[in-house]
Amino acid sequence: MKEKWLICPFCQSKTRLKILENTVLENFPLFCPKCRHEAIIDVKQFTISIIKEPDAKTQSR
Ligand SMILES: [Zn+2]
Repeated sequence: MKEKWLICPFCQSKTRLKILENTVLENFPLFCPKCRHEAIIDVKQFTISIIKEPDAKTQSR
C-alpha cells in the first residue's frame, strides 16, 4: 500500500497527515501548520482538490 504525506496545496509542504493510495476524503478541513492556511479539501488517489478556501485569518505575513 502506497502512502504519502498530504501536501499543503498552498505552500507545498508536508502537513502532519498521511494518506494512502485508497484514502478518500470529502469536505475535509485541512489545516497547514506551516503557512497556517485552512481549506476544505477533497482527496482521492493522492489528488487534492480545494473545495472551499476560507479567508486567511493571519495576514500578517
Ligand atoms: Zn501550507
